[in-house]
Amino acid sequence: MPLVLGNLLATERRLIIQMEKKTNELIKKALDMASLSRDEAVFLLELPLCSEAVYSVMSAANTLSRSSFGNKGERHLHIGLNAGPCPYNCRFCSLAKNLGFFTTEIVFPEQQVLQWAIDAQAEGADGLNIMTTGSFAFEKLLETGRMLKNHVSVPLVANTRDISVKEGQALVDAGFSGFYHAVRLGEGRDTPFSREKRLETISAINESGLLWMNCIEPVGPEHSKKEIADLMVLAYENKAVYSGIMRRINFPGSPFERFGMINEMELARMEAVSRLVMADACRAHCTHEPNSAALLAGGNLFFPEKGSSPRDREAETGSGRGASMTRCVALLDEMGWDVSLPSNVFDARPIKNARPNCARALKSSLPA
Ligand code: SF4
Repeated sequence: MPLVLGNLLATERRLIIQMEKKTNELIKKALDMASLSRDEAVFLLELPLCSEAVYSVMSAANTLSRSSFGNKGERHLHIGLNAGPCPYNCRFCSLAKNLGFFTTEIVFPEQQVLQWAIDAQAEGADGLNIMTTGSFAFEKLLETGRMLKNHVSVPLVANTRDISVKEGQALVDAGFSGFYHAVRLGEGRDTPFSREKRLETISAINESGLLWMNCIEPVGPEHSKKEIADLMVLAYENKAVYSGIMRRINFPGSPFERFGMINEMELARMEAVSRLVMADACRAHCTHEPNSAALLAGGNLFFPEKGSSPRDREAETGSGRGASMTRCVALLDEMGWDVSLPSNVFDARPIKNARPNCARALKSSLPA
């Protein structure tokens, strides 16, 4: 072998050994329930995809989630109350007015919303995430919360515009337990909102007694690992009840079509890194849209969908892209997550730190 080639191979081997050594150190740290720094998360996000090191990270995240969440598979039904031209024009959103997909305001009738909620409760939903567009009347969201609270016992989570502490308290009074809110990737560039405003809302959520639910979103191939890791650490530091990864969906006509989308393998790797960063702060770990790969990488929470969705050109995403409750159960079940257990998300109990609880999954896979 020529000397130069031999030296190159030796250097490459040394780099691989160093990479594996550092990965193993970070995995050990995470399994001891210590969160990772932004730089450590970036290191893991930059490992070669499909390398053994990435599978080790996914395995560690899987172990953490199976043990912390007691093998519970969660389903929180998203219900979008209205589909209409939203004047805020976030560039990744199908409801943006300037895209022209929705020209008139559709508000789903109360009876329809109630029926979705009743059906979801009958199918064992763990939460109901009630979403509105950014310009939807706040009072109407409160009314919907009060109406649902009178008929279903599934905990309610609001997903709407930025709020104040007073508005957070009004949501609590109306029956909401949580509030989904995210500092978006590309905030201020792809949206008209500032990071500071989002952070103020997260403080208001915590101060008003609502649980803060989060996801790193909407992830596309154009986002740097640094900005993704930054939001992971933000979720940990502000103690999100759950976080996770949602990839950006390029609906037909999306301004992001030219960038493509991340694939489920990349989504699963990010899911795993996010789970390690969240350490003992979270009570579940979400992924969207529902997929099996993330369920092997620390994900245990799906959002089936009804009503409007910022990822769909159909007004009622239940007849479009949105996954059904049944589909979500099937995916969770195939990956050995038990949907019949009680939710961990709305419970004040600290999460467990025990050995993986795969007994049921193992039992069902053994020959009789
Ligand atoms: S993401 Fe929300 S605020 Fe932004 S355009 Fe869509 S509905 Fe409006």
